[in-house]
Amino acid sequence: MASSAIVIGAGVIGIGTAYALARRGWQVTLIDEAEKAAMRSSHANGAQLSYCYTDALGSPATFAALPTFVRAREGVSIRPFGGPDYLAWLVQFARNCTAARFRENTLALLRLGLESRDAMDRLCAEHALEFGRRVTGKLLLLHSPEEFDRARRSRDLKQGAVDFEQVMLDRAELPDLDPALGGVAEDVVGAIHTPSEEVGDPFLFCNAMVDLLREDYGVEVRFGSSVSRVEQTSPKARIALDNGERLEADAAVVCAGTGSNRLLAPLGHRIPIQPMKGYSFEMPLANGSPHVSVTDVKRRIVIVNLGDRMRVAGFAALGRGSYAIEPGRIERLCDVAHDCMPNAGDYSKLSRPWAGLRPTTPTSQPVIARPAQGLAINAGHGALGWTLAMGSGERLAALLERD
Ligand SMILES: Cc1cc2nc3c(=O)[nH]c(=O)nc-3n(C[C@H](O)[C@H](O)[C@H](O)COP(=O)(O)OP(=O)(O)OC[C@H]3O[C@@H](n4cnc5c(N)ncnc54)[C@H](O)[C@@H]3O)c2cc1C
Repeated sequence: MASSAIVIGAGVIGIGTAYALARRGWQVTLIDEAEKAAMRSSHANGAQLSYCYTDALGSPATFAALPTFVRAREGVSIRPFGGPDYLAWLVQFARNCTAARFRENTLALLRLGLESRDAMDRLCAEHALEFGRRVTGKLLLLHSPEEFDRARRSRDLKQGAVDFEQVMLDRAELPDLDPALGGVAEDVVGAIHTPSEEVGDPFLFCNAMVDLLREDYGVEVRFGSSVSRVEQTSPKARIALDNGERLEADAAVVCAGTGSNRLLAPLGHRIPIQPMKGYSFEMPLANGSPHVSVTDVKRRIVIVNLGDRMRVAGFAALGRGSYAIEPGRIERLCDVAHDCMPNAGDYSKLSRPWAGLRPTTPTSQPVIARPAQGLAINAGHGALGWTLAMGSGERLAALLERD
């Protein structure tokens, strides 16, 4: 008889996991408390499938900037105080800011990124899915000779491990790549360009996948069902829903993003995840909309052309755990994007304001683990969950099949 799994969470990670299991012949039940897939952190993120630009957050440069982040109100900001879990997380994060850990974490993410691109290619070759996936290339704007050198070193590190194209460009070369870059902010001195990077809408992806999983793979999808606890993990997993119902399977897989510890902590398997809050909005295309996907690390924003509209996403506030849009944040994000690329879209017609929480670990690497017989975890993908979803699902499925 086929093995069975209950996948908790229908964000990009739960969807990738459900697919990887279902295509291996598992009987899968996918559960989410929301009424649709991708209603939390996967809803309206930066939309970048950044398979090669996988730099870990913790680095010597981040460590040097920590005092600035503690004082900051935008860009990257860090709350200096919190409970014991939060403080333990900060200590672990600081330990991951050495050059050796940055290298280790970045290369591990790069390997997972490339596995994810392969898995996404296979999926899209097999099934016609419409979610605006296209190769736009990714441009990372740089603002000083120091940033330029750091980006070059990071490129050399990755190119030493994997063969892929990533080129350094001076400011004067930017309009040749994309005429819209002629209007970029004056503080930009150059950029690093990765031509193979892609974009795609994660909300459209997840909901197209729900139809595919139901129709082609017999997956039972249950929305509006909140899991209150995982009651038992051996020899079978048993979960309880808020409505009192109980479900049983060979494995329960927790893909609940920043909500994962609510289910894992009572079982003694708490993982180091902290929310890193960010925002996004959309606006209509304009004559000056870039075709290439633009990331400005200094301003901590991305400006992405989704084909029929622009999306701007950004800010990273560590330790802020609510999905509420705080007053003034979208307006500020708009000002910062305008400052970076004033002609990137029609800033007078903003739509779809949104806030999400990146489920962030101290290493920037996700937790893909099987801590007990009938329990698995796929969570903690931080700023790269959309990018890493498909490869993470494959790794998790392979882990569950390893007996
Ligand atoms: C501003 C911003 C920009 C970003 N840009 C990018 C980008 O450009 N590229 C990229 O790769 N990544 C990006 N990310 C990161 C990416 O969005 C996340 O890493 C990813 O969405 C995490 O997916 P997830 O499935 O783990 O979590 P979620 O999408 O939050 O999914 C978890 C699901 O679990 C459900 N759930 C939780 N608890 C329960 C329960 N008890 N019972 C039932 N259901 C439950 C929730 O309803 C939710 O649907 C960005 C994030 C933000 C905030």
